[in-house]
Amino acid sequence: MPHANDPLLVISPHLDDAVFSCGAAIAGAPDSIVCTVLAGVPHNALVTDWDAQCGLTDAHQAMHARRAEDAAALDVLGARPIHLGFLDSQYAGDSPASHDEIVAALLDVIRATACRALVVPLGLFHSDHDLVHRACREAWLADRTLACLAYEDALYRRMDGLVQTRLADLAACGIIATPVSERIDTAALARHQGAKQRAVSRYISQLKAFGPNGYDDVFATERFWSLQTARHDR
Ligand SMILES: [Zn+2]
Repeated sequence: MPHANDPLLVISPHLDDAVFSCGAAIAGAPDSIVCTVLAGVPHNALVTDWDAQCGLTDAHQAMHARRAEDAAALDVLGARPIHLGFLDSQYAGDSPASHDEIVAALLDVIRATACRALVVPLGLFHSDHDLVHRACREAWLADRTLACLAYEDALYRRMDGLVQTRLADLAACGIIATPVSERIDTAALARHQGAKQRAVSRYISQLKAFGPNGYDDVFATERFWSLQTARHDR
């Protein structure tokens, strides 16, 4: 297990998931890195329903705006962004991001980092989250230098049975998931929650699409699971 305050390498499917799901933990671990996998800018300036709800005119404006919002949010938390070039499924059309290419890119990031723990999404509900979770799992199993924690994807974790289904999937694949107990004191938690609220507010375009009460779960307690292989070989 990483020590409190050790910098984290947090993997995010989209440009908001890591901060929405574990922004307080990132605030408590200075010099962490948040690597967003599906942060690519598509060649075509597509117009999607989601981007329209976000108040954005096309995919080019959307991704540049989201990258800027993410950088601003991570600056609030004292963390640094890495934006990989794989495409969000809403832009991918017939050529979705490749599992193997994501694994290779994640291994490059893992091997270049000085962080002490890899923090990955459980990968709930959304096909992009599932894709990134599976790639993270394979990269971690290929390079076991970092401890691995999984975070519950904010918003989706509220949906019936999804966390349970993923835990069962992990167990079936020989990976044990153990809940990580909260160890920071109340004052620190309050300070980190304040930083998280400020960071979340930087995702202006996303919040517009979720609506005023559409993202309340983001501020609920962050939950993490320590992952280990069943052979106890760590
Ligand atoms: Zn997402």
